[in-house]
Amino acid sequence: ATPAEEKDLVIIGGGVAGYVAAIKAGQEGLKVACIEKRGSLGGTCLNVGCIPSKSLLENSRIYHQIQHDVKNRGIDVGDVKLNLTQMMKAKDTSVSGLTKGIEFLFKKNNVEYIKGAGRFEDQNTVAVDLTDGGNSVVRGKNILIATGSEATPFPGLEIDEKKVVTSNGAIALTEVPKKMIVIGGGIIGLEMGSVWSRLGSEVTVVEFLGAIGGPGMDAEIAKSIQKTLAKQGMKFMLNTKVTNGDASGEGVKIDVEAAKGGKAQTLDADVVLCAIGRRPYTQGLGLDKIGLETDSKGRIVIDSEYRTKIPHIRVIGDCTFGPMLAHKAEEEAVAAVEYLTKSYGHVNYNAIPAVMYTHPEVAWVGQNEQELKEEGVKYKVGSFPFTANSRAKTNLDTEGMVKFLADAETDRILGVHIIGPNAGEMIAEGTLALEYGASTEDVGRTSHAHPTLSEAFKEAAMSTYAKAIHY
Ligand code: FAD
Ligand code: NAD
Repeated sequence: ATPAEEKDLVIIGGGVAGYVAAIKAGQEGLKVACIEKRGSLGGTCLNVGCIPSKSLLENSRIYHQIQHDVKNRGIDVGDVKLNLTQMMKAKDTSVSGLTKGIEFLFKKNNVEYIKGAGRFEDQNTVAVDLTDGGNSVVRGKNILIATGSEATPFPGLEIDEKKVVTSNGAIALTEVPKKMIVIGGGIIGLEMGSVWSRLGSEVTVVEFLGAIGGPGMDAEIAKSIQKTLAKQGMKFMLNTKVTNGDASGEGVKIDVEAAKGGKAQTLDADVVLCAIGRRPYTQGLGLDKIGLETDSKGRIVIDSEYRTKIPHIRVIGDCTFGPMLAHKAEEEAVAAVEYLTKSYGHVNYNAIPAVMYTHPEVAWVGQNEQELKEEGVKYKVGSFPFTANSRAKTNLDTEGMVKFLADAETDRILGVHIIGPNAGEMIAEGTLALEYGASTEDVGRTSHAHPTLSEAFKEAAMSTYAKAIHY
């Protein structure tokens, strides 16, 4: 083999974490290579996660709305038919446009894109099994691991991505299942459950805990979105565990019982979506070869500057600590490269927003009420319902509210929780407020355009230190 050129930075994984780090490194003038084995850039998020799921969420929402909510708006339509093939094509077009866009950005920023699977030979050398056959070797002064995550399998239920699916299969079904069971009422379960419910499936969500929404969601908001999704037709079995599954027949049979033990029953479905969380993916990477450890959850252990115990090897994104979110991975990517080139970086883990793209959307940033109670923090609450917001009223879309949690003494914002139309865009203002250490009064005394949904944000803030005007 020819001696490999040494790069300043070799990145393993071209997902959001890896590709953003590659572009940033290119911008900083580093010689950088990014190894990706999937055949396209963008990782889980662009290929099988954030992007395809949001395409299906938007188009299924429009389909559902045309069926159920246009007559009252003065729009009479004829027969509405679903063309699932076209809906999937629209999704694929969004995905391929974006993944190809990253290839272009790589070229623009002088990033070498190596197509293949990387594995450690030694602390500075990565061997690559090239996608087009053969292999090669790339050496790096620094190496960044950004290999992401995969769906956690449900023990005893074999995934075939047709009848028993993870989100990978749930974004690519070729027909609408009559009955769908979702194991896990977290973000994936509720987003993908919403898609298929809107397209006509009878969806039942089985959740082990007493609340839906997964970790982080405020309990009051979780109850509220559950009620709304139930009104839209989704069924929920909380405090329920799946004990067994059988996909050997025509459909799938799922045995469930009360989480604390109790009467068992068997549910039938055409498709079962397994959405019980994701786990770091480091398979085949050869971590053991260089003596790197993972914790009990499979996360590669790092310090506060993303360094492993081998200081020139760093780790970011889903394969290490923190929430498994694309924008978190992106922040870490920029910070990790800055640590390398400038010796400082910055990610505020207390101000990473989370959004669930159901309708209405749920979004939050900072702490929720359960957490504040647990920590014994004295806090005050303010809220404002969209039923009292003029724009929500004109949009005939008034479900939900904005809720502020602020320090009882100083009024500093500790958390913002929104359920409502466009909550995912609105939370950006909450995140900025939190990042700048704002008080609810800072927000309440800031002019917000009329008529906009964001006035509900302002009035919720006003209601925390004084009173809202319109409620
Ligand atoms: P990944 O995106 O998983 O990328 C890792 C990449 O590394 C992969 O492409 C993989 O092929 C490659 N790789 C692994 N090992 C090797 C190797 N040895 N050699 C070469 N390449 C390798 N987050 C949000 O913030 N918003 C959302 O709306 C959202 N929606 C989601 C919807 C779904 C259905 C799913 C599953 C996830 C969603 N997420 C969302 C989470 C988001 O996708 C992840 O947090 C994000 O992709 C993490 O980025 P990453 O780069 O760390 O990992
Ligand atoms: P999750 O952790 O959000 O939710 C998993 C749910 O499954 C939890 O409520 C858990 O209590 C439940 N569960 C676990 N084991 C169970 C069992 N045996 N029976 C019944 N219920 C069980 O995980 P997810 O929904 O799979 O999502 C994975 C990751 O992807 C998350 O970290 C999420 O942040 C990310 N993601 C984000 C978005 C977004 O930002 N909009 C969208 C999709 C995925």
